[in-house]
Amino acid sequence: MTHEQTARSTFPIGGIYPNEHKEATEGLPIEAMPCPAEVTLFLKQHVGVPCELTVKPKDSVVLGQMIGTVGDKLGAPLHASVSGTVKAVKEAMHPLITRDTAVVLSADPVADAADRARMESAPVEWRTVGREELLNRMKNAGLVGLGGAGFPVYAKVNLKPDVKVDTLILNGAECEPYVTCDHRIMLQYAREIVEGAKILMRVIGNQRCLIGIEANKMDAVEALKQAIGEAKDRQKWEIDVRVLQVKYPQGAADQIMESLTGRVRPAGKRSSSIGIIVQNVYSTKTVYDGVVLGRPLFERVITVAGKGIARQANLLVRIGTSIADIAAYLGGTTDDLDRIVVGGPMMGVSIGSLDVPIMKYTPGILFLGSDEVSTETYGPCISCGFCLQACPMGLEPHNISKYVEAGRAVEAEKFGVEDECFECGSCAFCCPAHRPLVQFIKIAKAEIDRHKRQQKK
Ligand code: SF4
Repeated sequence: MTHEQTARSTFPIGGIYPNEHKEATEGLPIEAMPCPAEVTLFLKQHVGVPCELTVKPKDSVVLGQMIGTVGDKLGAPLHASVSGTVKAVKEAMHPLITRDTAVVLSADPVADAADRARMESAPVEWRTVGREELLNRMKNAGLVGLGGAGFPVYAKVNLKPDVKVDTLILNGAECEPYVTCDHRIMLQYAREIVEGAKILMRVIGNQRCLIGIEANKMDAVEALKQAIGEAKDRQKWEIDVRVLQVKYPQGAADQIMESLTGRVRPAGKRSSSIGIIVQNVYSTKTVYDGVVLGRPLFERVITVAGKGIARQANLLVRIGTSIADIAAYLGGTTDDLDRIVVGGPMMGVSIGSLDVPIMKYTPGILFLGSDEVSTETYGPCISCGFCLQACPMGLEPHNISKYVEAGRAVEAEKFGVEDECFECGSCAFCCPAHRPLVQFIKIAKAEIDRHKRQQKK
């Protein structure tokens, strides 16, 4: 195994350099928030079909119990994130799609503490477990990508026999400003990440893993190198840690693949078509938890940051905890609070209510103060070309926005907006006219989709 630091890498096209704002939380160790009185769990916290509930109101539930399944369809089972009782199944406020169906659990803190203590079981020696069983364990633990997409982990690594992957990339770039939860996970759980990577490689059938970390997290680079070097079976695997240039969106799948391997995914194809699977470092740690410890995904670390909250933190919270409960635990919001954003400032969404719960793929909550939020109104495009230089996919955001403004959004299809734009926000960030380019792009995508569905009728 080699684990030397190599030359700093970056993707060649586009990208921007926003202020990182990570200093307030990157040094804060993970802190566990006590069990909340209630959690709200959406039946769909992943790419795929919603879960079918296996419990009903008034049923008792135990921490970690599977309470929703997806059968053979794409998706991830749902687990009780507290011990207690099913209070209701209802429509609840969702951070992305306004409202969706959720199950509400009332917690019994005494039973929860006892069940949590019982959960510390003896680790399983995964090397003696067959491939199918490893996949089953990942699926039954409800594991999804924690970097923001929520794609079921087992489905990503369960490749067809004719698909050959030679490289597993662990994404530790964490390029979103403010967010530092992956950084803390790499520092505090480096050994588990390395073991999780080996489990993934065993399932994929490859032996090479590249861990990409931005140069602003050199302590995490050292932690992972140390964990690789200390493993007893280090000669059997080729795992390298690579330092990536700090450049947004370094942590996007296409960009990190290009930075680390020079390979470019053809439009419309999967990363496996160029021999690569990308997995987030935190998701890889949960592979260890699910497979080795038998612990389902019922909690996660989130970064809570910004000048609008009394205390900033990297917080281990139960999935389904409300943002109101998190704010109360951290001492409440400040008078300066201007906006609440779920996720990071580049790709997150701003919300109008504290009743929204944490999902499996929520990396952070930003309580932004007035001087952290832009209040500029936007003007007409001045054709400066800055957005063209910023877009890592080589798109034409300014032209897309003009077509939308002219009521011709469907014609924006010719710019590849539908397949290639992953809404990183680089274009909007650098626009001197403060044009909300991502919002224009979202409108274009929706209009193109509506037009296509009408044509099919
Ligand atoms: S949001 Fe889309 S169009 Fe804008 S820079 Fe990112 S990928 Fe390019």
